[in-house]
Amino acid sequence: MYDYLIVGAGLFGATFAYEANKRGKKCLVIDRRNHIGGNIYCEDIEGINVHKYGAHIFHTNNKEIWDYVNQFTEFNGYINSPIANYQGQIYNLPFNMNTFNKLWGVITPQQAKEKIEEQKLNAGITQPKNLEEQAISLVGTDIYEKLIKGYTEKQWGRPANELPDFIIKRLPVRFTYDNNYFNDKFQGIPVGGYTRIIEKMLEGSEVKLGVDYFKEREELSKTSRKIVFTGMIDEFYNYEFGVLEYRSLRFETELIDNENFQGNAVVNYTDPETPYTRIIEHKHFEFGNQEKTVITKEHPTEWEKGDEPYYPINDQKNTELFRKYKELAEIEENVIFGGRLANYKYYDMHQIIASALNCVNKELQKNNKVLQNENQ
Ligand code: FAD
Repeated sequence: MYDYLIVGAGLFGATFAYEANKRGKKCLVIDRRNHIGGNIYCEDIEGINVHKYGAHIFHTNNKEIWDYVNQFTEFNGYINSPIANYQGQIYNLPFNMNTFNKLWGVITPQQAKEKIEEQKLNAGITQPKNLEEQAISLVGTDIYEKLIKGYTEKQWGRPANELPDFIIKRLPVRFTYDNNYFNDKFQGIPVGGYTRIIEKMLEGSEVKLGVDYFKEREELSKTSRKIVFTGMIDEFYNYEFGVLEYRSLRFETELIDNENFQGNAVVNYTDPETPYTRIIEHKHFEFGNQEKTVITKEHPTEWEKGDEPYYPINDQKNTELFRKYKELAEIEENVIFGGRLANYKYYDMHQIIASALNCVNKELQKNNKVLQNENQ
């Protein structure tokens, strides 16, 4: 008999298992995939750690979480500085003085601000009604047309003027020559990839892979006192109120007989013609010097039930649907729901760790301290 059956060997499940194990609890961790790590799993191809489910950069402002994750691995000091390719022209991201200099030839922050203000004014938008108007009202027309429109339309599969304005609440605009994408204090890539963190977290637990909870629900439920469920909440309830929708991705990965393909880990393609949104060259996350390289083209796709769910669509319809499932979840006595799929919410990795720590602390009541800044 186990204390916990943990459904999902991703970051949430593994953090929970590690902490429960540390406090003397026995955990059985299962995953329907044939590997641990969930979406942060790295596959070794020719000595390169390939981020199989999309590029992952760890970043946080939360010192407690940074210290916590550093007990499992060393981070390599990688700073995320993506670039954008718009019709063969390269621009720095996030939008900063390097971007503005390339776009307009401006040199000083004052000149850049004046240019943006002039474009915002000329657009004459006072009350943005959709994503296009919202973006223009925040950064003006040039940045919108070259660096936002095509990328966003590919990402969501719909014209920007048909997308709701709330998708873009703010846009990172920086009036310094600083290409560091994140504002967080701590950032990096784990040396040797992410899977190692999960391996260490799961050391004290029993792990069974290729096991789908729903195919052996009854037998599995008998093995443990409680269940920690990190899969899709609507699937848990057999979709009784309907299906929660997602946006999906298709990854096209190639091994290339070339030492350096694009000179940067992340290149966004912001024009509407290129069918993918970005190319990831994995070796650059770890300053690799292998003879070959691996690249992945990321194609956003429509999602259908059964496809890999990536981004929840938190519109009104799905939010309402999720609320119904959450009401059911809240009255379960022996099931704890956690992680991105059970909460139908996009979380960064540091937020997942914070939320798993809060969950396990609450559950085991030894340390009831709740990290107030879970969402930082
Ligand atoms: P998951 O990793 O999805 O784990 C859930 C696990 O449960 C899966 O392995 C699944 O197979 C398993 N499971 C589900 N149902 C069942 C079942 N019925 N039976 C058995 N097993 C089941 N975060 C960052 O901080 N930085 C980034 O740069 C970043 N980039 C991202 C890029 C992309 C494209 C995406 C989609 C996310 C990114 N994230 C990033 C977020 C990060 O991936 C998540 O925070 C994290 O992986 C969530 O962990 P989780 O354990 O909740 O979910």
